[in-house]
Amino acid sequence: MPRSLATTQIPAAEILAVGSELLTPFRLDTNSLYLTAELNRLGIAVRRKTIAGDELENLTEALRSACSRSPLVIVCGGLGPTADDRTREAAAAALGLRLRRQPELESQLRAWFARRDAPMPEANLRQAELLAGAAALPNRRGTAPGQWLERDGCILVLLPGVPAELEAMFADAVRPRLVPYAGVAWRHEVLLLADLPESQADALAAPLYTAEPEVETTILAARPGEIELHLRARGAAAAPGGALERLQDRLAAALGERLAAGQASLEAAVIQLLRRHGETLAVAESCTGGLLSARLTSVPGASQVFLGGAVAYSNLAKRSLLQVSAASLETHGAVSAAVALELAHGARRRFGADWSLAITGIAGPEGGTPEKPVGLVFLACAAPQGEPQVVERRFQGGRERVRAYAAAVALNLLRLRLARGERARQEAAPAARVEL
Ligand code: ATP
Ligand code: MG
Repeated sequence: MPRSLATTQIPAAEILAVGSELLTPFRLDTNSLYLTAELNRLGIAVRRKTIAGDELENLTEALRSACSRSPLVIVCGGLGPTADDRTREAAAAALGLRLRRQPELESQLRAWFARRDAPMPEANLRQAELLAGAAALPNRRGTAPGQWLERDGCILVLLPGVPAELEAMFADAVRPRLVPYAGVAWRHEVLLLADLPESQADALAAPLYTAEPEVETTILAARPGEIELHLRARGAAAAPGGALERLQDRLAAALGERLAAGQASLEAAVIQLLRRHGETLAVAESCTGGLLSARLTSVPGASQVFLGGAVAYSNLAKRSLLQVSAASLETHGAVSAAVALELAHGARRRFGADWSLAITGIAGPEGGTPEKPVGLVFLACAAPQGEPQVVERRFQGGRERVRAYAAAVALNLLRLRLARGERARQEAAPAARVEL
Protein backbone atom coordinates (compact mmCIF):
# COMPACT_ATOMS: atom_id res chain seq x y z
CA MET A 1 0.00 0.00 0.00
CA PRO A 2 1.61 3.28 -1.01
CA ARG A 3 1.69 5.77 1.82
CA SER A 4 0.35 9.21 1.02
CA LEU A 5 2.79 12.05 1.16
CA ALA A 6 2.61 14.24 4.21
CA THR A 7 1.05 17.54 3.24
CA THR A 8 1.74 19.16 6.56
CA GLN A 9 4.64 18.82 8.92
CA ILE A 10 7.48 16.33 8.49
CA PRO A 11 8.43 15.41 12.06
CA ALA A 12 11.74 13.73 11.38
CA ALA A 13 14.16 13.14 8.54
CA GLU A 14 16.98 10.78 7.77
CA ILE A 15 20.39 11.61 6.26
CA LEU A 16 22.48 9.21 4.21
CA ALA A 17 26.09 10.26 3.50
CA VAL A 18 27.63 8.39 0.58
CA GLY A 19 31.33 7.88 -0.05
CA SER A 20 33.85 5.17 0.79
CA GLU A 21 36.29 7.90 1.91
CA LEU A 22 33.88 8.69 4.77
CA LEU A 23 34.50 5.20 6.13
CA THR A 24 38.26 5.79 6.40
CA PRO A 25 40.04 7.61 9.24
CA PHE A 26 40.87 10.49 6.87
CA ARG A 27 37.53 12.14 6.07
CA LEU A 28 34.71 13.16 8.33
CA ASP A 29 31.08 13.52 7.24
CA THR A 30 30.43 17.19 7.95
CA ASN A 31 27.60 17.62 5.44
CA SER A 32 25.17 15.95 7.82
CA LEU A 33 26.01 18.50 10.53
CA TYR A 34 25.16 21.34 8.17
CA LEU A 35 21.99 19.56 7.03
CA THR A 36 20.91 18.83 10.60
CA ALA A 37 21.30 22.47 11.62
CA GLU A 38 19.28 23.58 8.57
CA LEU A 39 16.55 20.98 9.11
CA ASN A 40 16.26 21.87 12.80
CA ARG A 41 15.87 25.50 11.79
CA LEU A 42 12.83 24.34 9.80
CA GLY A 43 11.53 22.46 12.83
CA ILE A 44 12.43 19.07 11.32
CA ALA A 45 14.35 16.74 13.62
CA VAL A 46 16.90 14.21 12.36
CA ARG A 47 16.08 10.69 13.44
CA ARG A 48 18.89 8.73 11.89
CA LYS A 49 22.18 9.25 10.03
CA THR A 50 23.87 6.57 7.96
CA ILE A 51 27.19 6.46 6.15
CA ALA A 52 27.42 4.11 3.19
CA GLY A 53 30.38 3.28 0.99
CA ASP A 54 30.23 3.42 -2.79
CA GLU A 55 29.29 -0.26 -3.40
CA LEU A 56 26.07 -0.42 -5.39
CA GLU A 57 24.35 -3.20 -3.43
CA ASN A 58 25.12 -1.76 -0.05
CA LEU A 59 24.00 1.68 -1.16
CA THR A 60 20.78 0.35 -2.73
CA GLU A 61 19.91 -1.46 0.49
CA ALA A 62 20.64 1.67 2.58
CA LEU A 63 18.41 3.77 0.31
CA ARG A 64 15.59 1.23 0.24
CA SER A 65 15.38 0.95 4.00
CA ALA A 66 15.68 4.73 4.55
CA CYS A 67 12.84 5.42 2.08
CA SER A 68 10.60 2.79 3.65
CA ARG A 69 11.18 4.26 7.12
CA SER A 70 11.24 8.03 6.79
CA PRO A 71 9.09 10.71 5.16
CA LEU A 72 12.21 12.69 4.20
CA VAL A 73 15.53 11.17 3.15
CA ILE A 74 18.43 13.44 2.23
CA VAL A 75 21.34 11.75 0.49
CA CYS A 76 24.67 13.52 -0.04
CA GLY A 77 27.51 12.40 -2.29
CA GLY A 78 27.99 9.99 -5.15
CA LEU A 79 26.59 12.24 -7.88
CA GLY A 80 29.96 12.75 -9.54
CA PRO A 81 30.81 11.62 -13.07
CA THR A 82 33.09 8.71 -12.20
CA ALA A 83 32.24 5.01 -12.04
CA ASP A 84 32.35 5.01 -8.23
CA ASP A 85 29.59 7.63 -8.06
CA ARG A 86 26.57 5.32 -7.83
CA THR A 87 23.89 7.21 -5.95
CA ARG A 88 21.70 7.65 -9.05
CA GLU A 89 21.79 3.95 -9.99
CA ALA A 90 21.26 2.87 -6.38
CA ALA A 91 18.21 5.13 -6.00
CA ALA A 92 16.78 3.80 -9.28
CA ALA A 93 17.30 0.22 -8.13
CA ALA A 94 15.95 0.84 -4.63
CA LEU A 95 12.73 2.45 -5.89
CA GLY A 96 12.31 0.42 -9.10
CA LEU A 97 12.58 3.52 -11.30
CA ARG A 98 14.31 4.16 -14.61
CA LEU A 99 17.05 6.73 -15.10
CA ARG A 100 16.47 8.96 -18.11
CA ARG A 101 18.94 11.28 -19.75
CA GLN A 102 17.46 14.79 -19.91
CA PRO A 103 18.32 16.86 -22.99
CA GLU A 104 18.03 20.14 -21.01
CA LEU A 105 20.43 18.87 -18.36
CA GLU A 106 22.81 17.68 -21.08
CA SER A 107 22.87 21.09 -22.73
CA GLN A 108 23.38 22.78 -19.35
CA LEU A 109 26.37 20.50 -18.73
CA ARG A 110 27.83 21.23 -22.17
CA ALA A 111 27.35 24.93 -21.58
CA TRP A 112 29.09 24.69 -18.18
CA PHE A 113 32.20 23.19 -19.83
CA ALA A 114 32.03 25.57 -22.80
CA ARG A 115 32.08 28.58 -20.44
CA ARG A 116 35.33 27.22 -19.04
CA ASP A 117 36.78 26.43 -22.48
CA ALA A 118 37.17 22.80 -21.49
CA PRO A 119 36.08 19.70 -23.38
CA MET A 120 33.35 17.76 -21.57
CA PRO A 121 34.43 14.21 -20.68
CA GLU A 122 31.89 11.62 -21.88
CA ALA A 123 31.58 10.36 -18.31
CA ASN A 124 29.89 13.61 -17.30
CA LEU A 125 26.85 12.69 -19.38
CA ARG A 126 25.79 10.46 -16.47
CA GLN A 127 25.11 13.65 -14.58
CA ALA A 128 22.32 14.44 -17.05
CA GLU A 129 20.36 11.36 -15.91
CA LEU A 130 17.32 11.93 -13.77
CA LEU A 131 15.16 9.43 -11.86
CA ALA A 132 11.73 9.11 -13.52
CA GLY A 133 9.43 11.66 -11.88
CA ALA A 134 12.21 13.62 -10.20
CA ALA A 135 12.87 17.35 -10.49
CA ALA A 136 16.44 18.50 -11.14
CA LEU A 137 17.99 20.85 -8.58
CA PRO A 138 20.41 23.37 -10.10
CA ASN A 139 24.03 23.36 -8.94
CA ARG A 140 25.49 26.84 -9.15
CA ARG A 141 28.91 25.71 -7.93
CA GLY A 142 29.53 22.51 -9.89
CA THR A 143 28.31 20.14 -12.54
CA ALA A 144 26.23 17.54 -10.66
CA PRO A 145 22.57 18.54 -10.49
CA GLY A 146 20.65 17.36 -7.44
CA GLN A 147 17.32 15.55 -7.55
CA TRP A 148 14.01 15.90 -5.69
CA LEU A 149 11.58 13.00 -5.87
CA GLU A 150 8.25 12.52 -4.09
CA ARG A 151 7.07 8.93 -4.06
CA ASP A 152 5.14 6.58 -1.82
CA GLY A 153 5.04 8.92 1.16
CA CYS A 154 8.72 9.72 0.98
CA ILE A 155 10.57 12.77 -0.25
CA LEU A 156 13.97 11.68 -1.51
CA VAL A 157 16.56 14.41 -2.08
CA LEU A 158 19.91 13.69 -3.75
CA LEU A 159 22.62 16.29 -3.17
CA PRO A 160 26.30 16.47 -4.22
CA GLY A 161 29.00 15.58 -1.72
CA VAL A 162 31.23 18.65 -2.13
CA PRO A 163 30.23 20.78 0.88
CA ALA A 164 30.18 24.13 -0.97
CA GLU A 165 27.95 22.67 -3.71
CA LEU A 166 25.64 20.96 -1.24
CA GLU A 167 25.22 24.09 0.85
CA ALA A 168 24.42 26.31 -2.14
CA MET A 169 21.96 23.76 -3.52
CA PHE A 170 20.24 23.34 -0.18
CA ALA A 171 19.82 27.10 0.19
CA ASP A 172 18.68 27.66 -3.42
CA ALA A 173 16.43 24.70 -4.08
CA VAL A 174 15.84 22.46 -1.07
CA ARG A 175 15.00 24.84 1.77
CA PRO A 176 12.25 26.62 -0.23
CA ARG A 177 10.72 23.24 -1.17
CA LEU A 178 10.75 22.10 2.47
CA VAL A 179 9.03 25.20 3.85
CA PRO A 180 5.51 23.73 3.38
CA TYR A 181 6.57 20.76 5.51
CA ALA A 182 8.28 22.82 8.21
CA GLY A 183 7.36 22.46 11.85
CA VAL A 184 7.90 24.79 14.74
CA ALA A 185 11.53 25.89 14.67
CA TRP A 186 13.85 25.11 17.54
CA ARG A 187 15.57 27.82 19.50
CA HIS A 188 19.04 26.84 20.58
CA GLU A 189 21.14 28.50 23.29
CA VAL A 190 24.65 27.58 24.41
CA LEU A 191 26.11 28.38 27.83
CA LEU A 192 29.88 28.11 28.19
CA LEU A 193 31.47 26.97 31.44
CA ALA A 194 35.19 27.01 32.11
CA ASP A 195 37.53 25.04 34.30
CA LEU A 196 34.88 22.93 35.97
CA PRO A 197 34.74 19.11 35.88
CA GLU A 198 31.79 17.81 33.86
CA SER A 199 30.42 15.94 36.89
CA GLN A 200 30.38 19.15 38.96
CA ALA A 201 28.78 21.12 36.16
CA ASP A 202 26.12 18.44 35.86
CA ALA A 203 25.53 18.34 39.62
CA LEU A 204 24.92 22.11 39.61
CA ALA A 205 22.80 22.21 36.48
CA ALA A 206 20.80 18.94 36.51
CA PRO A 207 18.37 19.84 39.33
CA LEU A 208 17.52 23.02 37.42
CA TYR A 209 16.85 21.48 34.08
CA THR A 210 14.72 18.69 35.42
CA ALA A 211 12.40 21.50 36.59
CA GLU A 212 11.89 22.62 32.95
CA PRO A 213 11.05 19.41 31.09
CA GLU A 214 10.03 21.23 27.87
CA VAL A 215 13.65 22.28 27.42
CA GLU A 216 15.98 19.65 25.98
CA THR A 217 19.40 19.92 27.57
CA THR A 218 22.74 18.38 26.68
CA ILE A 219 26.05 18.78 28.44
CA LEU A 220 29.05 18.63 26.09
CA ALA A 221 32.77 18.58 26.86
CA ALA A 222 33.58 21.13 24.16
CA ARG A 223 37.38 21.40 24.54
CA PRO A 224 39.75 20.48 27.40
CA GLY A 225 38.75 22.76 30.28
CA GLU A 226 35.54 23.92 28.63
CA ILE A 227 32.02 22.60 28.87
CA GLU A 228 28.96 23.67 26.93
CA LEU A 229 25.40 23.40 28.14
CA HIS A 230 23.09 23.23 25.12
CA LEU A 231 19.48 24.20 25.66
CA ARG A 232 16.83 23.60 23.01
CA ALA A 233 13.14 24.38 22.98
CA ARG A 234 10.37 25.35 20.64
CA GLY A 235 6.88 26.80 20.69
CA ALA A 236 5.74 28.48 23.91
CA ALA A 237 8.80 27.15 25.77
CA ALA A 238 11.05 29.14 23.39
CA ALA A 239 9.03 32.38 23.55
CA PRO A 240 10.29 35.42 25.49
CA GLY A 241 9.83 34.74 29.21
CA GLY A 242 9.16 31.05 28.50
CA ALA A 243 10.75 27.91 29.91
CA LEU A 244 14.01 28.33 27.95
CA GLU A 245 14.69 31.84 29.24
CA ARG A 246 13.60 30.86 32.76
CA LEU A 247 16.09 28.01 32.73
CA GLN A 248 18.83 30.24 31.32
CA ASP A 249 18.27 32.74 34.16
CA ARG A 250 18.29 30.04 36.82
CA LEU A 251 21.43 28.47 35.42
CA ALA A 252 23.12 31.87 35.28
CA ALA A 253 22.26 32.46 38.96
CA ALA A 254 23.43 29.01 40.06
CA LEU A 255 26.63 28.98 38.03
CA GLY A 256 27.60 32.60 38.71
CA GLU A 257 31.01 33.60 37.44
CA ARG A 258 31.72 30.08 36.14
CA LEU A 259 29.56 31.04 33.21
CA ALA A 260 31.33 32.98 30.44
CA ALA A 261 28.04 34.78 29.96
CA GLY A 262 26.81 35.36 26.45
CA GLN A 263 30.13 34.47 24.81
CA ALA A 264 30.90 31.83 22.25
CA SER A 265 34.43 31.33 23.57
CA LEU A 266 36.70 32.25 26.47
CA GLU A 267 38.94 34.26 24.16
CA ALA A 268 35.95 36.26 22.93
CA ALA A 269 34.93 36.93 26.54
CA VAL A 270 38.45 38.13 27.41
CA ILE A 271 38.74 40.36 24.35
CA GLN A 272 35.32 41.87 25.00
CA LEU A 273 36.14 42.68 28.64
CA LEU A 274 39.50 44.23 27.69
CA ARG A 275 37.89 46.31 24.94
CA ARG A 276 35.22 47.53 27.31
CA HIS A 277 37.90 48.94 29.62
CA GLY A 278 40.35 50.04 26.95
CA GLU A 279 43.06 47.80 28.44
CA THR A 280 45.75 45.78 26.68
CA LEU A 281 47.20 42.28 27.03
CA ALA A 282 50.47 40.50 26.27
CA VAL A 283 51.34 36.85 26.85
CA ALA A 284 54.40 34.69 27.51
CA GLU A 285 54.10 31.03 26.59
CA SER A 286 56.38 28.10 27.13
CA CYS A 287 54.68 24.68 26.92
CA THR A 288 51.66 25.99 24.95
CA GLY A 289 53.97 27.22 22.18
CA GLY A 290 51.60 29.92 20.89
CA LEU A 291 48.22 28.27 21.50
CA LEU A 292 47.14 31.11 23.74
CA SER A 293 48.16 33.75 21.17
CA ALA A 294 46.43 31.78 18.41
CA ARG A 295 43.18 31.65 20.37
CA LEU A 296 43.30 35.34 21.21
CA THR A 297 44.06 36.40 17.64
CA SER A 298 41.21 34.23 16.30
CA VAL A 299 38.76 36.82 17.68
CA PRO A 300 37.91 39.63 15.23
CA GLY A 301 38.94 42.95 16.76
CA ALA A 302 41.65 41.38 18.95
CA SER A 303 44.19 43.85 17.55
CA GLN A 304 42.65 46.64 19.60
CA VAL A 305 43.70 45.00 22.87
CA PHE A 306 46.15 42.17 22.22
CA LEU A 307 49.67 43.56 21.80
CA GLY A 308 51.56 40.32 21.25
CA GLY A 309 53.12 37.26 22.76
CA ALA A 310 56.47 35.57 23.12
CA VAL A 311 57.03 31.84 22.84
CA ALA A 312 59.95 31.48 25.24
CA TYR A 313 60.63 27.78 25.10
CA SER A 314 64.28 27.52 26.13
CA ASN A 315 65.75 28.94 29.33
CA LEU A 316 67.86 31.25 27.20
CA ALA A 317 64.77 32.62 25.49
CA LYS A 318 63.06 33.10 28.85
CA ARG A 319 66.07 35.11 30.02
CA SER A 320 66.80 37.14 26.90
CA LEU A 321 63.25 37.80 25.68
CA LEU A 322 61.46 38.19 28.98
CA GLN A 323 64.19 39.01 31.50
CA VAL A 324 63.63 35.96 33.69
CA SER A 325 66.49 35.83 36.20
CA ALA A 326 69.16 33.15 36.02
CA ALA A 327 68.81 32.77 39.78
CA SER A 328 65.11 31.84 39.57
CA LEU A 329 65.74 29.37 36.77
CA GLU A 330 68.57 27.83 38.76
CA THR A 331 66.86 27.74 42.14
CA HIS A 332 63.26 26.86 41.16
CA GLY A 333 63.54 25.47 37.63
CA ALA A 334 61.75 26.67 34.47
CA VAL A 335 58.49 25.05 35.60
CA SER A 336 57.85 26.94 38.83
CA ALA A 337 55.65 29.61 40.33
CA ALA A 338 58.61 32.02 40.50
CA VAL A 339 59.41 31.69 36.79
CA ALA A 340 55.73 31.92 35.78
CA LEU A 341 55.50 35.22 37.65
CA GLU A 342 58.72 36.55 36.10
CA LEU A 343 57.47 35.54 32.65
CA ALA A 344 54.24 37.45 33.28
CA HIS A 345 56.14 40.54 34.51
CA GLY A 346 58.51 40.29 31.56
CA ALA A 347 55.67 40.16 29.04
CA ARG A 348 53.91 43.14 30.62
CA ARG A 349 57.11 45.17 30.60
CA ARG A 350 58.42 44.19 27.18
CA PHE A 351 55.12 44.75 25.39
CA GLY A 352 54.02 47.70 27.53
CA ALA A 353 50.69 46.00 28.26
CA ASP A 354 48.22 46.55 31.10
CA TRP A 355 47.70 42.83 31.65
CA SER A 356 49.73 39.73 30.97
CA LEU A 357 49.36 35.98 31.12
CA ALA A 358 52.18 33.44 31.34
CA ILE A 359 52.25 29.65 31.06
CA THR A 360 55.09 27.29 31.91
CA GLY A 361 54.67 23.56 32.36
CA ILE A 362 55.54 19.99 31.45
CA ALA A 363 53.31 18.78 28.61
CA GLY A 364 55.00 15.37 28.36
CA PRO A 365 55.24 12.61 27.46
CA GLU A 366 58.86 13.01 28.62
CA GLY A 367 60.45 15.44 31.07
CA GLY A 368 58.46 14.58 34.18
CA THR A 369 60.06 13.82 37.56
CA PRO A 370 58.49 12.65 40.85
CA GLU A 371 58.52 16.26 42.13
CA LYS A 372 57.46 17.77 38.82
CA PRO A 373 55.29 15.25 36.97
CA VAL A 374 53.97 15.49 33.43
CA GLY A 375 50.89 17.74 33.47
CA LEU A 376 52.30 20.17 36.07
CA VAL A 377 51.66 23.71 34.83
CA PHE A 378 52.09 27.13 36.43
CA LEU A 379 49.91 29.94 35.13
CA ALA A 380 50.45 33.57 36.07
CA CYS A 381 48.48 36.74 35.52
CA ALA A 382 49.94 40.21 36.09
CA ALA A 383 47.61 43.16 36.49
CA PRO A 384 47.83 46.95 36.16
CA GLN A 385 46.84 47.20 39.84
CA GLY A 386 46.92 44.68 42.63
CA GLU A 387 48.92 41.57 43.21
CA PRO A 388 49.95 39.28 40.40
CA GLN A 389 48.37 35.86 40.63
CA VAL A 390 49.97 32.49 40.11
CA VAL A 391 48.17 29.15 39.97
CA GLU A 392 49.63 25.65 40.08
CA ARG A 393 47.71 22.91 38.29
CA ARG A 394 48.21 19.25 37.48
CA PHE A 395 46.40 18.35 34.28
CA GLN A 396 45.72 14.74 33.35
CA GLY A 397 46.05 13.32 29.86
CA GLY A 398 48.48 13.47 26.96
CA ARG A 399 50.55 16.33 25.55
CA GLU A 400 47.79 17.93 23.47
CA ARG A 401 45.27 17.81 26.29
CA VAL A 402 47.69 19.35 28.81
CA ARG A 403 48.52 22.16 26.38
CA ALA A 404 44.90 22.86 25.46
CA TYR A 405 43.80 22.72 29.10
CA ALA A 406 46.55 25.17 30.11
CA ALA A 407 45.49 27.69 27.44
CA ALA A 408 41.85 27.47 28.56
CA VAL A 409 42.69 27.88 32.24
CA ALA A 410 44.93 30.87 31.49
CA LEU A 411 42.15 32.57 29.53
CA ASN A 412 39.72 31.82 32.32
CA LEU A 413 42.09 33.24 34.93
CA LEU A 414 42.13 36.57 33.14
CA ARG A 415 38.40 36.46 32.38
CA LEU A 416 37.64 36.06 36.10
CA ARG A 417 40.05 38.86 37.12
CA LEU A 418 38.52 41.23 34.57
CA ALA A 419 34.94 40.31 35.43
CA ARG A 420 35.55 40.63 39.18
CA GLY A 421 37.26 43.98 38.65
CA GLU A 422 34.27 45.16 36.64
CA ARG A 423 31.84 44.09 39.36
CA ALA A 424 33.93 45.70 42.10
CA ARG A 425 34.03 48.99 40.18
CA GLN A 426 30.28 48.93 39.64
CA GLU A 427 29.66 48.27 43.34
CA ALA A 428 32.12 50.94 44.44
CA ALA A 429 30.64 53.66 42.27
CA PRO A 430 26.89 53.13 41.97
CA ALA A 431 26.30 56.88 41.57
CA ALA A 432 28.36 56.90 38.38
CA ARG A 433 25.80 54.72 36.68
CA VAL A 434 23.68 56.59 34.22
CA GLU A 435 19.96 55.91 34.38
CA LEU A 436 18.50 55.85 30.91
P1 ATP B 1 29.37 14.72 -5.99
O1 ATP B 1 28.11 14.05 -5.72
O2 ATP B 1 29.31 16.21 -6.01
O3 ATP B 1 30.15 14.22 -7.15
P2 ATP B 1 30.88 13.00 -4.46
O4 ATP B 1 30.73 12.65 -3.03
O5 ATP B 1 30.55 11.97 -5.42
O6 ATP B 1 30.20 14.37 -4.72
P3 ATP B 1 33.55 12.97 -4.06
O7 ATP B 1 34.65 13.18 -5.02
O8 ATP B 1 33.34 11.64 -3.45
O9 ATP B 1 32.30 13.41 -4.82
O10 ATP B 1 33.63 14.06 -2.91
C1 ATP B 1 34.00 15.36 -3.21
C2 ATP B 1 34.58 16.00 -2.00
O11 ATP B 1 33.55 16.23 -1.05
C3 ATP B 1 35.63 15.14 -1.31
O12 ATP B 1 36.66 15.96 -0.80
C4 ATP B 1 34.82 14.49 -0.22
O13 ATP B 1 35.60 14.05 0.83
C5 ATP B 1 33.88 15.59 0.16
N1 ATP B 1 32.69 15.02 0.77
C6 ATP B 1 31.88 14.07 0.25
N2 ATP B 1 30.90 13.76 1.13
C7 ATP B 1 31.12 14.52 2.24
C8 ATP B 1 30.45 14.65 3.50
N3 ATP B 1 29.37 13.95 3.80
N4 ATP B 1 30.96 15.52 4.38
C9 ATP B 1 32.04 16.25 4.09
N5 ATP B 1 32.71 16.17 2.93
C10 ATP B 1 32.26 15.32 2.00
MG1 MG C 1 31.94 10.14 -3.38
